[in-house]
Amino acid sequence: MSKSSLSDPGHIKEVLARHGFHFSKALGQNFLINPGVCPRMAAECGAQACKGVIEVGPGIGVLTWELSQVAQKVCAIELDSRLFPVLEETLAGRDNVKLVPGDVMKLDLNQLIRQEFGGGPVCVCANLPYYITSPVILRLLEEGLPLTSITVMVQKEAAQRLCAAPGERECGAVSVAVHYRSQPKLLFQVGRGSFLPPPKVDSAVLRLDLRQEPPVSVADEDWFFRVSRAAFAQRRKTAANSLSATLGLPKPQVEQALAAAGAPENVRAERLTLEQLAALANALLGEGACKKGTMGVQ
Ligand code: SAM
Repeated sequence: MSKSSLSDPGHIKEVLARHGFHFSKALGQNFLINPGVCPRMAAECGAQACKGVIEVGPGIGVLTWELSQVAQKVCAIELDSRLFPVLEETLAGRDNVKLVPGDVMKLDLNQLIRQEFGGGPVCVCANLPYYITSPVILRLLEEGLPLTSITVMVQKEAAQRLCAAPGERECGAVSVAVHYRSQPKLLFQVGRGSFLPPPKVDSAVLRLDLRQEPPVSVADEDWFFRVSRAAFAQRRKTAANSLSATLGLPKPQVEQALAAAGAPENVRAERLTLEQLAALANALLGEGACKKGTMGVQ
């Protein structure tokens, strides 16, 4: 097994300078330089148990390279076209890697999985650009893609939020989706000095093992996710106020649904358990269903 030199800061700087590349803060470009991190992520992401891996944001290819050692195939989605010639050089000879130009938030991931992995199942492994951590994870979880697991490096605080169970103080709409779809596990922490350039915060790697069946019964999953987002949309308000304002439903109806779900009418969203959120969405379904087509995603 050959070894990559892509986590060597001197080598990275030399390659990037030769290509005239400058880091973009806006695109969350902090590249890994700790040689221990990528092999560990690749080993623990469950690549062998599926048809391949989707990586979001390969950067210079340090994690991609390690994934290509353990996966049948790797599709690496990169938005920054300045990195394409760099990746052609750093991943030369890695024949099971395909670079997919584009924005992970806009690509048709179902189609990608059908085309490149025969319909899957696949796993996701990424050092995520931090500016879109929650939207990416929400997208991966809500679209019902054929995934076995999602292994991601995120900011340490975001990792804590994502792993918080519904009913816990730090919980948000993303944690609801995480617990509904998966069993989250914090794998390890990564200090800020492990990146070039170093970010202002430490990071953590977590793996979400996708469930075969959700732990609660939901009549309409799209609606459930929408209700959960609406409950958390205005965190300073009670869940009833936030739901009523965001979904455009009369407050008494929301309060009735909360009562049917066994929750107090002045409850805040972070105190709602997964069971209560499911019951709430089911109770509101009749009301909201007629509006579903007209409301924007929060
Ligand atoms: N995987 C590399 C590593 O660990 O060193 C780079 C990780 S860096 C934190 C995030 C990467 O995501 C960058 O390469 C950045 O250009 C890319 N990126 C940012 N926004 C993206 C988007 N919307 N879709 C796809 N890639 C994106």
